Amino acid sequence: MKKIIIIGGGVSGLGAAYKVRRAAEAGNDVSFALIEKDDRLGGKIKTETVVDEWDSVDGTEFIVDGGPDCFLTSKPAVSRIAALLGFADDTLPTDDSRKKTLILSRGKLFEMPDGVMMFAPTKFLPFVTTGLFSWPGKIRMGLDLFVPKKKVAADEVNDETLESFIVRRMGRECLDRLAEPLVGGVHASDPKQMSLAATFPNLLDMEQKHGSMLLGFLDMRKKYPHKPGTKPRTFFTSLTGGMQELTDNMADAAGRDSITTGVSVESATRDGDSYVLKLSDGSTVTGDALIFATEAWSAATLLGDIDTQIAEAVAGIPASSSATVSFGFKEDEIGINMDAFGVLCPQKEGRKLMAATFSSTKWRGRAPTGKVMMRGFVGGPQNQAIMENTDEKLAEIALAEMRDILGVKGDPLFSRVYRWHLGMPQYTMGHLDRMAVIEGRSAEIAGLALAGGSYRGVGIPNCIESGERAVSKILGDWNIELAEDQVEEKRQH
Ligand SMILES: Cc1cc2nc3c(=O)[nH]c(=O)nc-3n(C[C@H](O)[C@H](O)[C@H](O)COP(=O)(O)OP(=O)(O)OC[C@H]3O[C@@H](n4cnc5c(N)ncnc54)[C@H](O)[C@@H]3O)c2cc1C
Repeated sequence: MKKIIIIGGGVSGLGAAYKVRRAAEAGNDVSFALIEKDDRLGGKIKTETVVDEWDSVDGTEFIVDGGPDCFLTSKPAVSRIAALLGFADDTLPTDDSRKKTLILSRGKLFEMPDGVMMFAPTKFLPFVTTGLFSWPGKIRMGLDLFVPKKKVAADEVNDETLESFIVRRMGRECLDRLAEPLVGGVHASDPKQMSLAATFPNLLDMEQKHGSMLLGFLDMRKKYPHKPGTKPRTFFTSLTGGMQELTDNMADAAGRDSITTGVSVESATRDGDSYVLKLSDGSTVTGDALIFATEAWSAATLLGDIDTQIAEAVAGIPASSSATVSFGFKEDEIGINMDAFGVLCPQKEGRKLMAATFSSTKWRGRAPTGKVMMRGFVGGPQNQAIMENTDEKLAEIALAEMRDILGVKGDPLFSRVYRWHLGMPQYTMGHLDRMAVIEGRSAEIAGLALAGGSYRGVGIPNCIESGERAVSKILGDWNIELAEDQVEEKRQH
């Protein structure tokens, strides 16, 4: 029996573990041992329930997601896993009857104009009438139609930062008031550093194809019209029990008896065809293959004894820390109109809050009847100093920001702070070069693979797929081909 060791019990590691389980069930002589340093599984995916002890009407609970609260609907991995494991009925679309995004600009709140796709307006009237942009700003955005497309030589990698791309095509005001919080915010990234080829390569392709972002997004809208009378699939989806329902189900299906928690991997070496790991409890684990499914900065400290080039490239992937702060309120005390999904606070505004989500508006069932829930984001690459505060202080800061920006009143029923130390990998310029080294060298080392949000996409579906790809790579090294991979390959072609 061949044994694959997986370091890290986040969604990537569990994606790998569940795939090994499927491979074994398909008749292959393979097994896994997963080692997770925390006492719990799920990594950044963490859901807590808070019992409603404040004049509960229906006895329900608050469902608080401390890390991710949703996934991109268009990426199939989560829905596929949910269908395989029988919890597809628990997928939860956003409540789009209340869909509205607020943006803070020059200290005032504006509604995001209808028709904006990423950072490009695709509807004329809402764009010309919005107060979010100045007239010179709007004219500059319109000039995108005439800005020539970037010339890219045949042998050149087309890449630039988010800042340079948006300023070049749509102007600085579009970057400062829309693209930075909306596009950069997804990655909690600094637009001055963020590699577009590594994060949103489709934008670079769109420019080359259409010569204009406005035309490109208009074309995209035409291709995906909403058919009248049909229920639109919402852009984001969550799970009724919170996002941890996903990782809990994956861990059950993979087999908890092969998973060890509360023990960290201290070193990893190769001994002939085997991998030998020393653990924090003094024990040693040996396997025929090894998947690193940890954050890059953690993998970098362990990879040195296996391959220095991979270790160096992995160490070159930076990460920033952030925290989410959730508050529950009585609906009749919060004092604001909750008919919106949340508010974005551009860097330019100089606020301590990056954004806030009206969780109980966006997702039905997150708060009991008569209560509401809101969560704020703090930190990110441009505000790391804030992370030095205690949890109490972070909650105080987030609440003061919500009061000042949104006019929140009343006292919260509870607050929960979730810190994510170096939890957001930064795909900076050069990321794709680093990936070429990591993937190129790993391909040459039998039984070694890396997975996780640090490499080819931070989104949960990307992470699951990265774990699955890692297993396919290793099985390929052993000349084992899975029927499900052949089906997937056919689907992609
Ligand atoms: C605040 C926040 C909000 C987010 N929101 C969204 C969202 O809404 N939608 C979305 O799609 N994505 C979101 N993301 C991104 C997404 O959550 C992550 O990219 C994803 O969960 C990463 O999963 P992972 O398994 O790769 O890594 P992790 O979840 O980081 O798991 C890695 C695991 O490895 C373990 N580990 C590390 N070193 C060792 C060691 N030496 N020994 C043993 N174990 C070790 C860690 O303890 C950890 O559990 C968000 C991220 C954050 C931080």
